[in-house]
Amino acid sequence: MKRLLVLATAVTALFANAQGYPGAKPISFVVPFAAGGPTDRVARDLAEAMRKTMPGGNFVVENTAGAGGTIAATKVAKANPDGHTLLLWHIGMAATAGLYRNLQYKPLEDFEYLGMVNDVPMTLIGKPQLPANTYRDFENYIRANSGKLNLAHAGLGSASHLCGLMWQSAINAKEPMKEAMTTIPYGGTGPAMIALIGGQVDLMCDQTTSTTAQIESGRVRAFAVTTADRLSSHKLLKDYPSLKEMGLKGFNLTIWHGLYAPKGTPAPVLKQLNDALKLALKDPEFIKKQEGLGAIVVTDKRMEPAGHKAFVAAEIAKLKPLIEAAGKFAD
Ligand code: ASP
Repeated sequence: MKRLLVLATAVTALFANAQGYPGAKPISFVVPFAAGGPTDRVARDLAEAMRKTMPGGNFVVENTAGAGGTIAATKVAKANPDGHTLLLWHIGMAATAGLYRNLQYKPLEDFEYLGMVNDVPMTLIGKPQLPANTYRDFENYIRANSGKLNLAHAGLGSASHLCGLMWQSAINAKEPMKEAMTTIPYGGTGPAMIALIGGQVDLMCDQTTSTTAQIESGRVRAFAVTTADRLSSHKLLKDYPSLKEMGLKGFNLTIWHGLYAPKGTPAPVLKQLNDALKLALKDPEFIKKQEGLGAIVVTDKRMEPAGHKAFVAAEIAKLKPLIEAAGKFAD
């Protein structure tokens, strides 16, 4: 009888383990861009924080670049909804909805929203050889060299693409440019940054999570931030004006990152992931790292699935007309 009981307990334990989540299988954060860029940075920092808040969770980062992030999003939308394949994406989730006609997924229907991670300003930066020290010099140089300069970005609908379009549209509204810039797409702003540092491209707009270290070391030149106000509490970035301050009316762009699972992921798994995410967002080490890179960790209702989804729905509606207005600069 005793032996039977021991056997029954062992079988129950084995069953619970087989059914258990996360189990031994890794949990992939699919990042829609190349390694070494800002989205990759956020995913790696979050993976590290969530390893602490979900004991046994083997979080790994998988880079699936291409088509402005939509290849990765398609992959996750169609993945097995078992909580082992998640998407870590930024504003592109909303921007591509207004840009691509044939998306293979529906942004608001084919994902479970797990919660948002952070808000991240962007910076307008140039190659180190650019003959400009201030934003004014920079804009004058751009105007004087209209049609000759290259702007790097991470693909159609990426944050850098969106920012580049909006900025060109804004300077054009102030005073028409003779010609639009040539845009050069990369698999992510990680490789684009290498090209910028090497002087193969002239300028780029990218998240502070990637640009801060490069600005600090002098490998690139920074001219402005994309938020409406200066980042007055950041030790390095506080010195750069906002584009709005530089006369680009109403310019205000902030990138955000969120976490998604394929539709149909079981509710207990979603809850476990959201609980672990919320704990990670309160981890002082994670917060400090993000703030050092100019990002602000989310503390409001966007940490919850419903708040996250409502925010993305509002962003889709907000970005559509902006993208259409700026769209004439698209290649
Ligand atoms: N910063 C990127 C963007 O422009 C992508 C990346 O994280 O590599 O969307």
